[in-house]
Amino acid sequence: MTVQVGKTTATMGKIALDAPIFDPPAFRLTNEQAAIITGARELGQTVFASRAAAYDRDATFPTENYKDLHRTGLLGISIPKKHGGLGADYQTYALAAAEIGRYCGATALTWNMHVCSTLWSGPLADDLDMDVSVRAEHERRRAIHYKRIVDDGAIYSQPFSEGGAAAAGGVAFGTEAKPVKDGWIVNGKKIFASLSGHADYYGVLCTEIAEGQTSSRRNTLYLAIPAKASGVSVVGDWDPLGMRGTVSRTLLFKDAFVEEDAALMPRGVYFQAALRWPHMFLTLSPTYMGLAQAAYDFTVRYLRGEVPGTPPVKRRMYPTKQIAVAQMQIKLEQIKTIWFQAVSEARANPSKEQVLRAYAAQYSVMEGANELAALAIRTCGGQAMLKSLALERIYRDSRCGSLMLPWTAELCLDRIGREALYEAGETDD
Ligand SMILES: Cc1cc2nc3c(=O)[nH]c(=O)nc-3n(C[C@H](O)[C@H](O)[C@H](O)COP(=O)(O)OP(=O)(O)OC[C@H]3O[C@@H](n4cnc5c(N)ncnc54)[C@H](O)[C@@H]3O)c2cc1C
Repeated sequence: MTVQVGKTTATMGKIALDAPIFDPPAFRLTNEQAAIITGARELGQTVFASRAAAYDRDATFPTENYKDLHRTGLLGISIPKKHGGLGADYQTYALAAAEIGRYCGATALTWNMHVCSTLWSGPLADDLDMDVSVRAEHERRRAIHYKRIVDDGAIYSQPFSEGGAAAAGGVAFGTEAKPVKDGWIVNGKKIFASLSGHADYYGVLCTEIAEGQTSSRRNTLYLAIPAKASGVSVVGDWDPLGMRGTVSRTLLFKDAFVEEDAALMPRGVYFQAALRWPHMFLTLSPTYMGLAQAAYDFTVRYLRGEVPGTPPVKRRMYPTKQIAVAQMQIKLEQIKTIWFQAVSEARANPSKEQVLRAYAAQYSVMEGANELAALAIRTCGGQAMLKSLALERIYRDSRCGSLMLPWTAELCLDRIGREALYEAGETDD
């Protein structure tokens, strides 16, 4: 049974809760949004924060956190209410995910892969063009996936990286789905597949190729392949610098059969989404928005002598520390402002200005979170980078943000520069 978020506070004990990253009245959030986001923050602070160090140290998946996400309804945050979810829109999800990321980066990042399977097949797909019969079939299929999540706590992942140009959107995915009677046979390999070995379904982006056809991005399929399906295996080690709890190992598909109901989007809809709903790729950023806030929170607490486990020595009276905190606060507010605007204008067919702003927001958050963490370590000093404190993990986790395809920091710069200087179809010939 699902316990709705926002009702769990009474059981959370006497911990003084942090202020929200985005104060609901100041950012004009509705009561319903505020309740969902508050639930995420309380769960993050009172439960996930204390578990984060062990998942990081051992590079293990936060299984216990997922049980709590299910118990509180957050596993179905973006599933429509009529299907038993919380019905959160894109903005609400992003703000809730930032609060989770503030306390456990690996949980927020993997939760994003899971939530995207419902966000992309849900509110996002609702904005896209489909024939009436195709939409009805999609509605029937997504209900199957939603039920698994809401009733059984099923976890979905989202492996699309392959080590080539496909994840950046340059070419068709090399993982192939051959249509056969009642489904597809899938063959291929995905690298950096977060939740590998822990998701119940891998939401694989692959290319449908019938006999004699050539590979095309237009034929991208988004299939929920059961982890237990024959021909699915997880290989390789996982011992990275940061985001260690994501367990992003390599997935292999060898003649894995999936039935037609595995389709999380109808044929052609992923390609349409990538063109018309670009903010779908901004969903990796909330985790890092939370990490940026966490670096700032830590610094203020540390300089006030209030970080648990450290001597109550205040360092706030030094002008150099005050200037550093001022610089961090300014940077944090800059990141928050552009990011809030960008996640608030996620929609189909955004204007050119909105798309450029989305890239700029992604860049600002991904680079900014790590800059803030680095500044936090410099400002707090040597004792603050001990592994017994959260800042060292925040620093390593935040380093991963700008590496995430398809909108790495480099690719954001690339796109902003090109799209600002050229209109669609324009050349210098
Ligand atoms: C902690 C973590 C978790 C992850 N989880 C997932 C997951 O769940 N699912 C998933 O699909 N992926 C996941 N990834 C993978 C991630 O999105 C990238 O695919 C991966 O980091 C790419 O690594 P690479 O070195 O192979 O990139 P490469 O493709 O070798 O690219 C290296 C860099 O070159 C640049 N570059 C790439 N293509 C172009 C181009 N066409 N033009 C200009 N510059 C380019 C980019 O800046 C890129 O960062 C995860 C990564 C990390 C670090």
